[in-house]
Amino acid sequence: MEMDQLVALCKRRGFLFQSSEIYGGLQGFWDYGPLGVELKRNVREAWWHDMVTSHNELEVPPGAPSAFEMVGLDCSIIMHSQVWKCSGHYDLFHDYMVDCRESKRRYRFDQVCGRWVRCKGQRIFVASDVAGDEGLELTQHKAMKFFNLRGKDADELVWDGPLVLLTTVKEFQHVLGPDAKTLGTLTAPREFNLMFKTIAGALGGEEDAVFLRPETAQGMFVNFKNVCDSTRVRIPFGIAQMGKSFRNEITPRNFTFRSREFEQMEIEFFCRPSTSPEWYRYWRDRRYQWYVSLGLASERLRLRDHEQEELSHYSCGTADIEYAFPFLSQGEFGELEGVAHRGDFDLRSHSEGKLVRQGDQLVVETDAEGRPRHRGSGKDLSYFDDQTKERYIPHVIEPSAGADRATLAFLCEAYNEDEAPDENGKPAKRVFLKLHPRLAPIKAAVFPLVKKDGMPEIAREIYKALKPLMPVFYDEKGAVGRRYRRQDEVGTPFCITVDSQTLEDGTVTVRDRDTLQQWRIHKDECAADLRQRLMA
Ligand code: ATP
Repeated sequence: MEMDQLVALCKRRGFLFQSSEIYGGLQGFWDYGPLGVELKRNVREAWWHDMVTSHNELEVPPGAPSAFEMVGLDCSIIMHSQVWKCSGHYDLFHDYMVDCRESKRRYRFDQVCGRWVRCKGQRIFVASDVAGDEGLELTQHKAMKFFNLRGKDADELVWDGPLVLLTTVKEFQHVLGPDAKTLGTLTAPREFNLMFKTIAGALGGEEDAVFLRPETAQGMFVNFKNVCDSTRVRIPFGIAQMGKSFRNEITPRNFTFRSREFEQMEIEFFCRPSTSPEWYRYWRDRRYQWYVSLGLASERLRLRDHEQEELSHYSCGTADIEYAFPFLSQGEFGELEGVAHRGDFDLRSHSEGKLVRQGDQLVVETDAEGRPRHRGSGKDLSYFDDQTKERYIPHVIEPSAGADRATLAFLCEAYNEDEAPDENGKPAKRVFLKLHPRLAPIKAAVFPLVKKDGMPEIAREIYKALKPLMPVFYDEKGAVGRRYRRQDEVGTPFCITVDSQTLEDGTVTVRDRDTLQQWRIHKDECAADLRQRLMA
């Protein structure tokens, strides 16, 4: 599947629109249309249901070290500025970027790569903003152009090593930018803070500056004590939250994959330090299986453990659940969810102040006068286990997912084309979204075969009976083949058709989106039959 086909379908059928499109759009912002909003809600509801409301704290789930509890939270988007200072986002949450003076394009420093090449007595670094085989091809093409070579002279280029990151290059004057024709057009890397800043209060001074949250996680850490004090949860337990997060991404791109406003679905799971490696493995595997259970079953989904050098300074284990999105080069994967072992970093930071690593210890970072660089709340965020009479700071496992990236992956995986008879019985290309029934925006469509002979009346009765139970769609316009195709294209698993036989024996046709099989059931059985099939 080409990404363009999916993007076109999303717009044509009302899944996704560019934000403020009539004004030319706003980069990095997206609107979910009438079908998109249902799809994304289904993704979020599946997550909340599977992680929170259906969790049975009385039983040990398969693979878990013990039984545990789960509760939810819904925190404000704007929080006290000290939250971001202690969490490290204020100081650390920045990316470096380089600008091209010639093409006026901006790139993330750590995402540009390239190759050194020698030719005609010159040695230059040919940069590309795509990696892999495509990057190799692009740099070859660019070097040929730069040195004015014809195809037959390609071996005049002497390549000096493989594709490497621009971060390894010191001599920017020898760099040929990804979209430039001349050398040395890239600026030195500059820092760019990813947090959106705004003002809370009438005075509008720097002391009133606040930030839109770049992640939902911190709300759960700063409410850890409130949750312990107001409920009867005991460790181990998890807090779940979903909601909007904002990052002023330098290069928003790849449809909704990298947006500036997006939605996260995060869990902070608190456990005894000694059991935390087992819980880390449990959550890593459980979260991976969640995607599989909702249809991301192909080799495009993978679970990747981070190498030691990739780990944050406080983490003793992180894994990414990744998907090979069609807009990435062959062999590349994009992150859907990160599952991190965060130790006691977060609770200690919000208690003592911003921490830094010193040797193998985490200590409060201090300024020139020896005072904490960013003061913590001073509140005791330790946990007292009244059974073992132990007091400790819990360790945290954090499965952090993106609702928009998950929705996009489900759409990419669902996109299918095959051949099926059209309304005139001739074989024709058919586009269908093979969405898991739990995620499908519409569960069933109800059609009268023709708009006469009392068929619409019966179809409307069926529609009326189904409507309170599940999202259904009624359509009586045009050829029935066209109506089937319109439903296939938006992923409706079943279509129910009232035809002339219905008038005789009360049965209707049910058609399956994926197999195109049809069978008959009595019209009064539609609700029970669909429920059973949707649950399967
Ligand atoms: P990336 O490296 O792709 O920027 P990240 O490692 O910074 O992602 P996290 O901070 O771990 O991302 O955020 C957790 C999840 O939130 C990600 O796995 C992703 O699903 C989602 N997410 C993060 N940034 C964005 C974004 N700009 N647009 C859409 N979803 C995002």
